Amino acid sequence: MNRKAVYAGSFDPITKGHLDIVRRALGVFHEIVVAVAHNPATETGLFTAAERVAMVTEALADVHDRVTVDAFDGLLVHYCDRINADAIIRGLRAVSDFEYEFQMAMMNRHLNSHVETYFMTASEAYFYTASRLVKEVASLGGDVSGLVPPVVHRALVAKFPRART
Ligand code: ADP
Repeated sequence: MNRKAVYAGSFDPITKGHLDIVRRALGVFHEIVVAVAHNPATETGLFTAAERVAMVTEALADVHDRVTVDAFDGLLVHYCDRINADAIIRGLRAVSDFEYEFQMAMMNRHLNSHVETYFMTASEAYFYTASRLVKEVASLGGDVSGLVPPVVHRALVAKFPRART
């Protein structure tokens, strides 16, 4: 029986697709660690790791008793060992995610056979929601308020004044 699962990603920024996966995963795992991946040497995201962690924390405040938010760098399987987690959650959208996610799952199994990868799908409402697209649309003045939590929408508007709706 798995108790602690890690949901890792860049979350730059977290979207309602990601949040949907976390909430579904809470129905399967006792504790979820949302792990924001970052490389301190090459911080290239729109938001810093600290900003991303803060936004995830606020968006999941109502389930904070079972969800913790952290940042990590290096190999995910090493991080899982450090925090004693035996499951990795990944979200799958279209077929296009599959090839990359399958490769990663196989590599992680090769590196640590004790950590199992679980794939979950979000609601169809978020099938096409991706952080990259959300940022692009917001930067061009499109309305993404339905695709991200309020804390992220405020942050996007602050970065891109055109994103205001
Ligand atoms: P992205 O920039 O593609 O949103 P992340 O690295 O932040 O990617 O995503 C972390 C995990 O969440 C990945 O497994 C990714 O496939 C998954 N994911 C991202 N958006 C969604 C969504 N809308 N529905 C389901 N899974 C998602």
